[in-house]
Amino acid sequence: MVVRRIFEMRAAGYNIKRIATVLNDEHILSPDDYRYKMLHKESPRYTHYLWSVIAVKRILRNQINTGNLAQMRTTTVSYKNHKVIRKDESDWVIIEHNHEPIISQELWDKVREVDASVSTGKKTKEGVTLPLSGLCYCADCGTKAKQQSSGGGNTRAGYACGKYSYYGKKYCTSHYITVRALNQLVLDDIQRQIEFVKTDSNAREKYLARKRGLYAEQQGNDKKRLKEMGKRIAELDRLIGSVYEDKVSGKMPEDMAFSLLEKYQVEKKFLQAEYDELTRRMALDLIEYITLDENPRKKSIPRDIHIYYKLIDRPLTDKKNALA
Ligand SMILES: [Zn+2]
Repeated sequence: MVVRRIFEMRAAGYNIKRIATVLNDEHILSPDDYRYKMLHKESPRYTHYLWSVIAVKRILRNQINTGNLAQMRTTTVSYKNHKVIRKDESDWVIIEHNHEPIISQELWDKVREVDASVSTGKKTKEGVTLPLSGLCYCADCGTKAKQQSSGGGNTRAGYACGKYSYYGKKYCTSHYITVRALNQLVLDDIQRQIEFVKTDSNAREKYLARKRGLYAEQQGNDKKRLKEMGKRIAELDRLIGSVYEDKVSGKMPEDMAFSLLEKYQVEKKFLQAEYDELTRRMALDLIEYITLDENPRKKSIPRDIHIYYKLIDRPLTDKKNALA
């Protein structure tokens, strides 16, 4: 199913041009060509049998694919002027669950998240998109940071000022930071933010009010999931504790206690692994962008890294330059 594949490619972070190229490379008929083929007619228009960026975009924005029918998408200026104008998305009338969906609401939402994010990310040689790929900018010149991969594994991979990387030290300085250090720093800060929103009821109210306004439909984001995982880990700790107690007091046979303990501990390990790792999904959900200050001359001076959060901070106006 071509439509679903297009959505899946986009959700996986492909840019629109790349999706069109994949479809063209596989000789998949473009929507226009397909329609005329079904009608057994020659297309009256000049056609080059290729997917354009516009054709891919049109599919990705068409709510009909989720089973919702978007109506009143266009309007005319007046009854005399019949020029068709596309209306702003907020003015569309959406009829939900109108027909069988081609793609799930979840996939649709994921594609919207990718659209809204500052970055679609760049894959490393190993084919992974790093969590903060494309979200970092130089604090001094505003240029997007260049992701530097290293030959020997991921340990020396890092981000550096794009201008410096491409044009040299005459134009900016390196601003280098390793992927590992930045990921850890960001994860720590996210967890602090979660704590803050959780404990400060004022902050929570503000956050929720913005969230309702901006992402009314967004569900199941990673903040919520993190919270649930945290709860489950605490619960597992309790369960593990009580199995030990029951075993010691003889309420539970030893082999049964062992198998239960093993089960709980495996689950806990998995949860913690996820909880302790910054994921691409988490980064895209929560972070608008990051600016990297230069490394201070002396080790004793702290370095500034600013993390701008979605919903909390102002969105970036120019994706090419953070200082614009
Ligand atoms: Zn710079």
